[in-house]
Amino acid sequence: MKVLKFGGTSVANAQNILLVEKIVRKESSENRVVVVVSALSGVTDGLISAAESASAKNENYSETIKTLEEKHLEFVKNLLPITEQSSWLSFVKKNFNDIEDICNGIYVLGEFTPRIKDKITAYGEFLSSNIIAAKLKSDGLDCVWLDSRNYIKTNSNFTDAKVNFETTNAALQTYFKENKQQITLAPGFIASDVDGNITTLGRGGSDFTASIIAAAVNAKELQIWTDVSGMMTADPRLVSNAKIIHKISYQEAMELSHFGAKVIYPPTIQPAIESGIPIEVKNTFNPQAPGTYIESSPPETRGKIRGISGSSN
Ligand code: ASP
Repeated sequence: MKVLKFGGTSVANAQNILLVEKIVRKESSENRVVVVVSALSGVTDGLISAAESASAKNENYSETIKTLEEKHLEFVKNLLPITEQSSWLSFVKKNFNDIEDICNGIYVLGEFTPRIKDKITAYGEFLSSNIIAAKLKSDGLDCVWLDSRNYIKTNSNFTDAKVNFETTNAALQTYFKENKQQITLAPGFIASDVDGNITTLGRGGSDFTASIIAAAVNAKELQIWTDVSGMMTADPRLVSNAKIIHKISYQEAMELSHFGAKVIYPPTIQPAIESGIPIEVKNTFNPQAPGTYIESSPPETRGKIRGISGSSN
């Protein structure tokens, strides 16, 4: 099994989903895969901004919600065949009605708690993952949508919930033993606490979801698909001939990331590292490029130095 994570820019619009689909089609022809997706680009920020406006008694929140709804309606229209659109358009509308109801509540009460914040931001991944799964199914792929909230269990530390790995791993392992679809598509970022309240894993948490699943199922590989071709030997804005690092150790990747190489955020890939699962950083927009392969003991480079990073001042 392999786990493939696609971030916000990779799933920004219908056109990009075609690139994602091509990658998933290829990978799933060789392995069972779990695909973890982020919300469409900008949607998490948009949802937070709507709720914040509502809590500040700024009526503009309705406009923000309308814009986000439009974005998803367009996404469905550009992605799915006409015969399948109407149920998904209703799905989007229903969810945005719920979002509007929640924001109306925030507006009236003037209260925007972390618990409500998770409830609101969760819609981003919930919507993107459902629509993308529908697209893959519609194109004949053996794909099932998995509700991460029922499997990734956390404490009630809303907006930055801590995972209960024992419960989570057991739930995921049982699920994947009993369900054998070639492609399982799951929303990143979202989870739930023991009482069933929606929680989230912190901003950028979709990498964490993918890493948790990869570790739980002892995946062959965790692939992080993003909009750059991997980690670089130096900051390309400062060093014009910086090159992609093709192989790097977990330790080195973490060290480079601590000083600004923002391709991966070490805490989010910890579960995969602890399980010794290789992590490949790949570019959705240039899938042929080799990317960066992060593993426990990569071969040494000629000059011994893997890369250079620093912090300014
Ligand atoms: N959508 C969430 C965020 O923007 C999680 C993620 O994309 O990883 O933080």
